[in-house]
Amino acid sequence: MNAEPAVQQRLLQLAEVDAELNRIDHRRRAMPELTEITDAERTVRERKDAVVAAETQAGDLDREIARLERDVDGVRARAKRDNDMLAGSGLPAKQAADLQHELETLARRQGVLEDELLEVMERREAVQANVDATRTELATAEQALADATERRDIALADLDATEAGRRRDREPLAAEMPAELLELYESLRAKNGTGAAPLRARRCGACRLELDRSELSHIKAAAPQTVLRHEECGVIMVRTPESGL
Ligand SMILES: [Zn+2]
Repeated sequence: MNAEPAVQQRLLQLAEVDAELNRIDHRRRAMPELTEITDAERTVRERKDAVVAAETQAGDLDREIARLERDVDGVRARAKRDNDMLAGSGLPAKQAADLQHELETLARRQGVLEDELLEVMERREAVQANVDATRTELATAEQALADATERRDIALADLDATEAGRRRDREPLAAEMPAELLELYESLRAKNGTGAAPLRARRCGACRLELDRSELSHIKAAAPQTVLRHEECGVIMVRTPESGL
């Protein structure tokens, strides 16, 4: 295949633009924010679970407190009724004694319930501290996620803008390229990522291999418009003033 040296130089420019586009693509996929976001999302999930667990524990204790309070109220009401009956007149001695006995039992029961209530309320307080702490940790994790997402979006917008610029650069270069040469270039690029590379200091700009004597003499003998390929990696190799020929 033949192409004027000037056309071959433009092909190199196109290859540089495409290399830049590849780098942009790579930067987009290798953005540190992406792992950061994945980690932050996992942390948020874990913190949410911790909040739910702490809140469930608090809810259980609230129900236990309500039950104990009802029990205490019940004991108090019963004691009041007993006291009212005792205060009334004409109660048979046997019944009065039974009521006295019951009042003692109720007082003991109330004491036990109140001790239990106090103990549960203390536990509830400790659990509340845990609820507050896990909620704070969740808020921190959500903030970290939001920060990382924002930084990713800014970086993405930046890469998008750079990419748009390179695509604008690319358009005229590709449009002016002879169809056959562009087709070859694109098929090579699709296959191994690089379509064309400069020959610099006797090395292929794509695979970096140094060309041997026979390859160099073959290149030296070739007409300037001959489209050269590097046998090793297949790319179109464009001669430059720094080729070292
Ligand atoms: Zn090569």
